[in-house]
Amino acid sequence: MKYDDNNIFAKILRGEIPCEKIYEDDFILSFYDINPQKKIHALVIPKGKYIDLDDFSSRATPEEMVGLLKGINVVVKKLEISTDTGKGYRVLSNISEHGGQEVPHLHFHLFGGEKVGKMVQ
Ligand code: 5GP
Repeated sequence: MKYDDNNIFAKILRGEIPCEKIYEDDFILSFYDINPQKKIHALVIPKGKYIDLDDFSSRATPEEMVGLLKGINVVVKKLEISTDTGKGYRVLSNISEHGGQEVPHLHFHLFGGEKVGKMVQ
């Protein structure tokens, strides 16, 4: 599958569609989900063009991989949901058809601010 340059997160990265930004650095952009499923529902996306976690894991550079994980850590601290600054959270990434992925640009959902509940509904 080829990366679709017109997916909604690609447009957000290019600044063509607004987002409620939480954090940005060379590797990631984080913003609030437009349709929050929990008290805190943030998204973290890599700046590179990756469709999903499989695509990222096979093609991303070591720097991009470290940048993504470190970026998530900065965001959860900022949101005060990390184990340092809060009471924890759930991180989730949907992959392709069976995973229920809607937007074909790799993203991690961060849920927190309250007990997140059952792992899979
Ligand atoms: P997926 O099902 O692909 O894992 O999740 C896509 C997520 O993107 C959904 O939770 C949806 O609410 C969110 N989303 C879709 N369009 C937009 C948008 O334009 N802005 C923001 N902030 N979130 C979006």
